[in-house]
Amino acid sequence: MNNITKYILIAFCLFVSGTVNAQELNKEALNLVNLDYKGLEKVKALHSEGKDKEAMKELLNYYRSRKDVKHPDIDLTRVRISKGDQKMADEALEHKFFSHKGYQPSYFYGDDIDWTYWPVQDNELRWQLHRHKWFGPMGKAYQVSKDEKYAKEWAFQYMDWIKKNPLLDRKTATSAQRENMRFAWRPLEVSHRLQDQTGQFLYFVKSPHFTPEFLSQFLVNYHKHAQHILANYSDQGNHLLFEAQRVLAAGAFFPELKDASTWRKSGIGVLNEEVDVQVYSDGGQFELDPHYHLAAINIFYKAIQIADVGGFRSEFPKKYLDTVEKMIVFYFNICFPDYSNPCFSDAKATKKEEMVKHYKNWSKVFPDNEQIKYFATEGKKGQLPENLTEAFKTSGFYTFRNSWANDATVMILKAGPPGFWHCQPDNGTFELWIKGRDFFTDSGSYVYAGSEEVNKQRDWFRQTMVHNTLTLDNKNIETADTKCLLWEKKDNAEILVVENPSYKDLKHRRSVFFVDNKFFVVVDQAIGSATGDVAIHYQLCAGKADINHKNFSATTTFGDKNNIILQCFGEKTMTMKDEEGWMSTDYRKKEERPAFAFNVDKKAGQNVRYVTVIYPVADRTSAPKMKAAIKSSATDMSKMNVEVKIGGKTYNLAYKL
Ligand code: MG
Repeated sequence: MNNITKYILIAFCLFVSGTVNAQELNKEALNLVNLDYKGLEKVKALHSEGKDKEAMKELLNYYRSRKDVKHPDIDLTRVRISKGDQKMADEALEHKFFSHKGYQPSYFYGDDIDWTYWPVQDNELRWQLHRHKWFGPMGKAYQVSKDEKYAKEWAFQYMDWIKKNPLLDRKTATSAQRENMRFAWRPLEVSHRLQDQTGQFLYFVKSPHFTPEFLSQFLVNYHKHAQHILANYSDQGNHLLFEAQRVLAAGAFFPELKDASTWRKSGIGVLNEEVDVQVYSDGGQFELDPHYHLAAINIFYKAIQIADVGGFRSEFPKKYLDTVEKMIVFYFNICFPDYSNPCFSDAKATKKEEMVKHYKNWSKVFPDNEQIKYFATEGKKGQLPENLTEAFKTSGFYTFRNSWANDATVMILKAGPPGFWHCQPDNGTFELWIKGRDFFTDSGSYVYAGSEEVNKQRDWFRQTMVHNTLTLDNKNIETADTKCLLWEKKDNAEILVVENPSYKDLKHRRSVFFVDNKFFVVVDQAIGSATGDVAIHYQLCAGKADINHKNFSATTTFGDKNNIILQCFGEKTMTMKDEEGWMSTDYRKKEERPAFAFNVDKKAGQNVRYVTVIYPVADRTSAPKMKAAIKSSATDMSKMNVEVKIGGKTYNLAYKL
């Protein structure tokens, strides 16, 4: 390139970028502000004299000394930065952006940032780039170091993003621009930025790089974000909740803006409506995914927290608060004593440290709830729930539990109605946690969506056959809508019977007996005229297992005297096959694990039945001899009678419907 061309190019770039130059006053900004707002008298006077530059300077002074609006999460007198956040901030200076924790190390987006760079065609990677997750860490790094390099670079990137990601009229935009808007302006991402900008504003507003001109650009951009969400709310699901809560936050944080009360009211209105739509009467969120259930609690909680900070809690009716409390009760009932949750659907594993923080927050809103207090204080205060086992029949979550302590046995079974997007076709599956080990971790989800290759990975983890449940010809179940037929406590066992329509001409009925508060007997019945390969699948946690194809058993071989033996008793023609097994407890994280199935070639007139016994043992050598047989008729669906013999002891397990 010769020099003349270069200069022309630079001049052209300056011309194009001129409209969003950080050092240029965006006159639109003052039109967005309610100049009659208390404290803005000088701003109003200057504006009416036509001195907009001075007015904006005055507005910046106002914001720099503003004290009455509190941020729900940020206290500038106590900013700390974690190692991870510091790294994120420093890498961002080199344009290595932390777009997604599943794609580490972070990619380099170019000296001249390319916001369309998409090294792996996973939608999440490109969407989440536009969440600017490193901006908050840059703010923290700035606050703890007072090094202007963070403020300078943040302001630069903030403006660079605006310049290169314009929100255009879809009708006149080119197809490349439309494609970029699909990622940069998806309402969920917009809401993410909207919320996080309040923190960035606090961190950087006193920096010399946060000029009056920059403030004008910031306010216009911020306003555009909130208005965009209002006009483009997602139809349903957790996205809508996130968007509403963040619009509410936007209104609460910038009450000086003319549209602030509209935003606040809109957010509260949507949340009040959705708390009814998205939460079943038993407290379960309709995506039937522990992770999104938790996210929904935190969205609803955050809205209350913002309302408390802003003094408008009364705008939420009591019913809203009661529902959120019910969701928390639901959640601790479907968790294990180490605060982890099952990885059903698209759920990720939760960490105790992070959960204790959540309970602490929730306890502030529900100070009278002794159970929330118990989990918030790790048992130092409050009280344990009075119940052990619990059924949430509408959402289809069932917990067998013999204790809340670390030596507990806890099985959580998922068998509910058709779920929303994040829900998997896994009806009847379970996780079983004994003394700190999750022996049947769910396969998880690994990734969400993107190119064909990414979708293929997602599809593997979603399949019915990689869950602890029944399939026909290893296909995904066609109908997921499980009904509870029985949930009762007898002298020697707690009993759950659920039934799912599963396939055309094949229902799956699963009966679970939690015997003597110690072990499980699972009876599966494949009922109907369908023919084909009926299989019950099981996947153990990562680690070695002793698989015995001859007696249809599997025993884990951990060296800490905490193991299980699983043995299946079925039709004479039953075979045991090893299967591919993976478990993913976080995005793009997976571990291989033992998996197997018990297969029967089902004939037209036959109802296939299986009895699986899962028994805790110290090690392989101490595993008792086990035997089980169904004594009731295969065609009489009104009763079940199964005889189980374990090490010389006989158990008669029975129920009538
Ligand atoms: Mg799953």
